[in-house]
Amino acid sequence: MENSPRSVPRTLASRAHVVIIGGGFAGVAVAKGLSDRDIRVTIIDQHNFHTFVPLLYQVATAGLEPADVAFPIRTIFGHAKNVRFRHGRVRSVDQSRNLVVLGDGSQIDYDHLVVATGATAAFFGVPGASLFAMPLYTLSDARRLRNRLLLILEETEVRGEIDGALAQLTFVVVGGGPTGVETSGALTELIQIAIKRDGLRLDPERIRVVLVDMAPRLLTAFPERASDYAKRQLESSGVEVQFGRSVVGIDEHSIHFGDGERVECAAVIWAAGVSAGDALPHDLASTSGPGGRVLVGGDLRLLGSANVWAVGDAAAVPLSDGAFCAQLAPVAIQSGRHCAEQILHVVHGEATTDFRYHDKGIMATIGRNAAVAELPHGVVVKGRLGWLAWLGLHLWYLVGFRNRLRVFINWTWRYFDWPSGPRLIVADAETVE
Ligand SMILES: Cc1cc2nc3c(=O)[nH]c(=O)nc-3n(C[C@H](O)[C@H](O)[C@H](O)COP(=O)(O)OP(=O)(O)OC[C@H]3O[C@@H](n4cnc5c(N)ncnc54)[C@H](O)[C@@H]3O)c2cc1C
Repeated sequence: MENSPRSVPRTLASRAHVVIIGGGFAGVAVAKGLSDRDIRVTIIDQHNFHTFVPLLYQVATAGLEPADVAFPIRTIFGHAKNVRFRHGRVRSVDQSRNLVVLGDGSQIDYDHLVVATGATAAFFGVPGASLFAMPLYTLSDARRLRNRLLLILEETEVRGEIDGALAQLTFVVVGGGPTGVETSGALTELIQIAIKRDGLRLDPERIRVVLVDMAPRLLTAFPERASDYAKRQLESSGVEVQFGRSVVGIDEHSIHFGDGERVECAAVIWAAGVSAGDALPHDLASTSGPGGRVLVGGDLRLLGSANVWAVGDAAAVPLSDGAFCAQLAPVAIQSGRHCAEQILHVVHGEATTDFRYHDKGIMATIGRNAAVAELPHGVVVKGRLGWLAWLGLHLWYLVGFRNRLRVFINWTWRYFDWPSGPRLIVADAETVE
């Protein structure tokens, strides 16, 4: 009789051990694909929570609370007896001994290793960018940015009182991709709410939100008509959009452009791109290709390895035409699921199959009422319908029904009411003198 993976009762210790580094979309998808299987799984993350990265800009601009977009990894797998969570940062991987080494020096051995470490902000060597610009990739980034923005608004009111005139203020957002578009749109909403609802004495005419990009249009991954629509929407909400601008330096109070112009600004928000290289454990960096991503074969195994796999943003996932998949949540989820299936194949002595990406489209919001979405076959949905599609999709992908329901209720309430909770400045380090 042939045994299915589910029907072979073995002690936990004798089962193949799969170690997953990273509890983002990709790592969680791998662990979900292996949960309740005849496999031992350890998922390691430097944070004890999974972050719903696409909504970080909402936290950064005080639209949502951190807890709306982060979920304890232990809770996600609380029901799965074969999945264990280990809190820690993986420092290195010893492939010759099948070991991962954590920051505290402890070692964990594996039969299969999955690298799902995601990516971090890429500053492209722009002087001062890593020091003075504010990236948006982690929940800490989002909290830090939110506190900074709210503090700046408070300081500006005080400055106006001292000077006897409403003060001038400039925010610069670098990068016209979805993150830059979403963040600049939401930032103008935050400013309007701070003035209308919280009574901050600021002159909206003297507050600039400037979105800059080197490219000649926004959202270059979308069709041109979606880019034009995004630009029009942003401009109508008060964002200045500037193209062909290369950033050559950032200091504490200003941003410098390639044409020699220096713009004084209160904050630079960095949404210019990501790199996978910095997140990778040291020993794997040598295997990386474009964007610091690990090069993998069609079945998602590291080139030349029998038992190390890479998925999501960390991996240069090949497409059939020789290009690589974009670094998007659906790619992370689909590659994670595929990886879990392939590990089960290998453990059971079966052949692996190559990954094929099913394009579900891309989307970006431009404020509370507008979004652009490019669906498969080039169909573009804009405006309120696009926004509703964006909302539905993001809620659908939220981890767990309870969270989906909670976020839906929170969002609906916040959409109509703009409560003040997310606009509290609760910081560990940033305080006023
Ligand atoms: C601001 C922003 C907005 C975005 N919006 C969208 C969107 O609207 N739609 C979309 O499809 N995509 C969007 N993306 C891209 C999407 O978020 C990523 O493609 C997706 O998060 C990748 O998932 P991942 O699991 O590979 O990596 P991540 O989600 O980054 O997860 C990686 C995990 O690995 C952990 N980790 C890293 N290194 C280590 C280590 N050494 N040891 C232990 N743990 C480690 C991290 O803590 C993290 O939890 C957005 C990205 C950003 C930054």
